[in-house]
Amino acid sequence: MASMKFLAVAALTFATFTQAASAAPTVVVSIKPLHSLVASIMKGIGDPELIVAGAASPHTYNLKPSNADALQEADVVFWVGHGLEAFLDKPLMALAGNAKVVEMDDIPGLDKLAFREGGPFDHHDDDDHAGEAEHAEEHGGYDLHLWLDPTNAKAMARQIETTLVAVDPDNAETYHRNATTLQAAIDAVDAEAAALLKPVSDKPSVVFHDAYQYFEHRYHVRVVGSVTVSPENLPGAERIAEIQAKVRDLQAVCIFAEPQFESSLLQVVAEGSTARFGVLDPLGTTLADGPDLYVELIRNLATAMRDCLSG
Ligand SMILES: [Zn+2]
Repeated sequence: MASMKFLAVAALTFATFTQAASAAPTVVVSIKPLHSLVASIMKGIGDPELIVAGAASPHTYNLKPSNADALQEADVVFWVGHGLEAFLDKPLMALAGNAKVVEMDDIPGLDKLAFREGGPFDHHDDDDHAGEAEHAEEHGGYDLHLWLDPTNAKAMARQIETTLVAVDPDNAETYHRNATTLQAAIDAVDAEAAALLKPVSDKPSVVFHDAYQYFEHRYHVRVVGSVTVSPENLPGAERIAEIQAKVRDLQAVCIFAEPQFESSLLQVVAEGSTARFGVLDPLGTTLADGPDLYVELIRNLATAMRDCLSG
């Protein structure tokens, strides 16, 4: 009896407590790296929902019914933009009617790089390239793998903080404190990545898809070509022969696959060369979702590049 009474009192106390605290806003985020930044800033308040979960890629994603439900209930939606998550264009218009929608490629303080083409990189003006590149061109030709430069992640974190404070001012102090912690963590991993990559900055490599321009720019690493601009457009025989010649002629030290696109293509690309193989995970698909993912993602990319290039 005594324990029953205790439970009843505890339940009542808990109910009173949760009512007194301000309810967390319902937040939905498109991809893992951005979700991690939002989760960091919401720490202790609530957990944001993630759309492109697990090993999925935004380049090839199809919205699930559970994602549609989440969008319908959202107070805030964060996504990168049309050029990356084209599958969200229509659902955002149709479903997220009441939500504040923040498109990251529109925010202030970003260092944006133009989409590159030609040379060792894939062409993206062909009729069959209906994905990332074409969309990016419609929106000014920017490469939308923005999060791979930590200074851009810091700009995103500032925007996330401002947005959450506006939607949920009762928790402003916590958002501010979390954002300060996150900015410091990003600075630390940025310095760590720079130190890891400095000794291998002259070693050429080839990557699976053209996702790393921001990372290359930030850390002065030498990616000399990609097998494809975007994973939804796999290369033809002519393109593979071209890249094969590139790997040989430029003496690429490493060819980097990606966890969700491991492909026999890369074996073919390496034929006739002495290139080693490594794996890069630009989305953090192999990492647990949540506040720590972003920092681990940058650290893992730097470590994987360093290990293969210096091996
Ligand atoms: Zn990509």
